[in-house]
Amino acid sequence: MDKLIAGYRRFRANFYEHHKAEFEHLSAKGQKPSAMIIGCSDARVDPAINFDTGPGEVFMVRNVANVVPPYAPDSDHHGTSAALEFAVKGLDIPNIVILGHAKCGGIAALVDAEEDAEMKTDFLDLWMSVARPARRSAIAQAEAVNRADDRTYVCRLCERANVLVGIANLRTFPWIAEREKAGTLKLHGWYFDITKGELYRKNDLDEFELVPPTGE
Ligand SMILES: [Zn+2]
Repeated sequence: MDKLIAGYRRFRANFYEHHKAEFEHLSAKGQKPSAMIIGCSDARVDPAINFDTGPGEVFMVRNVANVVPPYAPDSDHHGTSAALEFAVKGLDIPNIVILGHAKCGGIAALVDAEEDAEMKTDFLDLWMSVARPARRSAIAQAEAVNRADDRTYVCRLCERANVLVGIANLRTFPWIAEREKAGTLKLHGWYFDITKGELYRKNDLDEFELVPPTGE
């Protein structure tokens, strides 16, 4: 923990000192972020670092495998859905990004779990079962090129498919679908390759294209 406390002291001496006015302004005026990012809890994928953002710029949710559950207003505790409701209805967020990533442990566990496998964990297996359509899609894509036995390949496909499933689930929220239709909210699917530090972006054909690392 000493490392974190030392980091906090560096933040106070450097970043906070240089951005003091910004923090005071945000504190007084409230937040008006231009994007919500739903990313993975994985310690290697930190959107604030990857997108070099400052305070107040991004409304962030990080959960296991950047999963978006479908709209289900019931008596369960829906953390990600509550954050979506606040960002969309409370903050009028104009962009939602689902950020998948390579070598995702949650997705690897999903790929390894048989569809009808018994739930062995208190929460994790049930949480990841939301992304089962992504697993099915990845296996079908891998079978089409005779690579269904290649676990690494299936995992990479499933990580991307999970972003698409997340976007489809976002559209099950009536107040998201309405705003997307009205053009006041855009939904984005991004994917980060942690080894190469490369970002991919979903196009209109649901293919992931490399974002040039330099340029405007
Ligand atoms: Zn992950």
